[in-house]
Amino acid sequence: MKIAKNSVVTIDYTLTDDDGKVLDSSVGQGPMAYLHGHGQIVAGLEKALSGKGAGEQVKVAVAPKDGYGEKGGGKTMAIAREDLPGDVDLEEGMPLHATGPDGHDLVLWVQKIEGEQVTLSTEHPMAGVTLHFDVAIKEVRAATKDELQHGHAHGPEGHHHH
Ligand code: ZN
Repeated sequence: MKIAKNSVVTIDYTLTDDDGKVLDSSVGQGPMAYLHGHGQIVAGLEKALSGKGAGEQVKVAVAPKDGYGEKGGGKTMAIAREDLPGDVDLEEGMPLHATGPDGHDLVLWVQKIEGEQVTLSTEHPMAGVTLHFDVAIKEVRAATKDELQHGHAHGPEGHHHH
């Protein structure tokens, strides 16, 4: 079957920047499964995979506007390290999950750590970067009722929360 809205798609992928530097890859982690058409992967890649099938290789360059956004559009805030949960090993570039004022999940990225001061940003560390994806499509299947209700793919390569 071809990839369409509500397909569960299993992929191997490597993401590089304009210089060929590897930014992210499923190599060594095992393939990733996602629910197509629900914004779980960046828009540009989702669009490129639509209509493709298992066994196909897809190479696509995704501009920032269809990836993690343009640079400079984020909000930053500086907070004291002691105001963050103590059980987190802070690292520059890592995401922190918070709840926004509207009650929705919000991801803040650790932009800088200077002594006891931590700068958080709403801007993804890969904002402004053209994303070069090299994707091998391993499997395409219809989502189950549970997966559609939850809005994500279930195991072995998807979520493991049940
Ligand atoms: Zn679930």
